[in-house]
Amino acid sequence: MQAQTEGRREANLALLLRTLRARGPLSRAQLAAGSDLSKATVAPLLADLEQRGLTQRAGTTTTQGRPGQLIQLRPGAVCGIGLDVHPGHVGATITDLTGEVHLRRQTSCDTNAPEHALDQLADLARKALKDVAKADWTGITVAVPGRADRETGIATATRLRWREVAVVDGLAARTGLPITRMDIDNETNLAAYAEHDTDPVDDLVYLNGDHSVAAGVIANGVLVRGADNRAGEVGHMVLDQLGSTFCGCGRRGCWETQVGLDAFLHACAPRHDQVHNPRLAQGERMSILRTRAERGDARTLDALHRTAAALASGLSVLTSLLNPQKIVLGGYFAALQDWLVAPQKQEKTPVTASTLGFTAGARGAALAALRRVLDDPTVVPLKEGTPKQDRQREGASA
Ligand SMILES: [Zn+2]
Repeated sequence: MQAQTEGRREANLALLLRTLRARGPLSRAQLAAGSDLSKATVAPLLADLEQRGLTQRAGTTTTQGRPGQLIQLRPGAVCGIGLDVHPGHVGATITDLTGEVHLRRQTSCDTNAPEHALDQLADLARKALKDVAKADWTGITVAVPGRADRETGIATATRLRWREVAVVDGLAARTGLPITRMDIDNETNLAAYAEHDTDPVDDLVYLNGDHSVAAGVIANGVLVRGADNRAGEVGHMVLDQLGSTFCGCGRRGCWETQVGLDAFLHACAPRHDQVHNPRLAQGERMSILRTRAERGDARTLDALHRTAAALASGLSVLTSLLNPQKIVLGGYFAALQDWLVAPQKQEKTPVTASTLGFTAGARGAALAALRRVLDDPTVVPLKEGTPKQDRQREGASA
């Protein structure tokens, strides 16, 4: 009986935290209405969240002539750490409960050597923990550009030449941090999660716009993973049966051979051109191409128009299959949105450019690392020396 009551209390705390996250700052009355709890239930729960340092007062509001205390999430109170791996570099992102990014750090690294990459990731994790020293950190999530087994913490990523790399075990061994606070996930799924966090529609498709083309699909508010964790590998939909280009998967005519970043770059410029230089950041390469397109360079514009048309074909399949409320295009699609996103017309489904840039997956990883506290705020301990007079004042002003 006691356990049941406790369980309900944790769930109610989580509900209040999520309501504040989505709609705060709010008064007690607004929180009660927004969470379907009574005002009497809400008051002690809010005191609890404040004693854990998760919320703070944010001025007053007047509703129907009566003043009410506004409550909001406390910025920087709790942090999630996201780590990401891309060919040639690794990164770390720290986000707090409000979704604000506190830090983004990136290091060059030979990611084809998994042990070396894990060393670098562990180093970034240690530095990130120093950066959040004053906050509670809830967890570390690693975004992998490939298959990520969340049960075992093992990743396989063709592009990194990783086969069954024990990411979570490797990081735990190097940092001494508890395995229970670490997990991995696919980068595109995490990017979809980050997009969904900025605009929580029930049905969303995020398409990444990178070397490998994949979609993160959210249906009824839940990420679609599939029976074997392979949902969303839409780059391998065969859209051109007679296509001459072989895909990395061994087949011909996959969508990725038409709209993947490799195909696009090769359509844009000859092999020696600087846009193929892997040492240049993707953002810089896209900015070079944007300038060429704005100047009317025929080859660049032709590549953009062909890519936009091929994108439209695949998007129409996704629209028919999933009927999403919106489609978000990320990565290089977003960087060249005037040519690749703006022309997309899917009946009744808005197609928009991601505002999160090439780090959407990293940001999603940091947000995912916060799930522990969003699911159960009591994992954050009560602060020592919670001032008693505060609690009394709280009671008096109610
Ligand atoms: Zn393929």
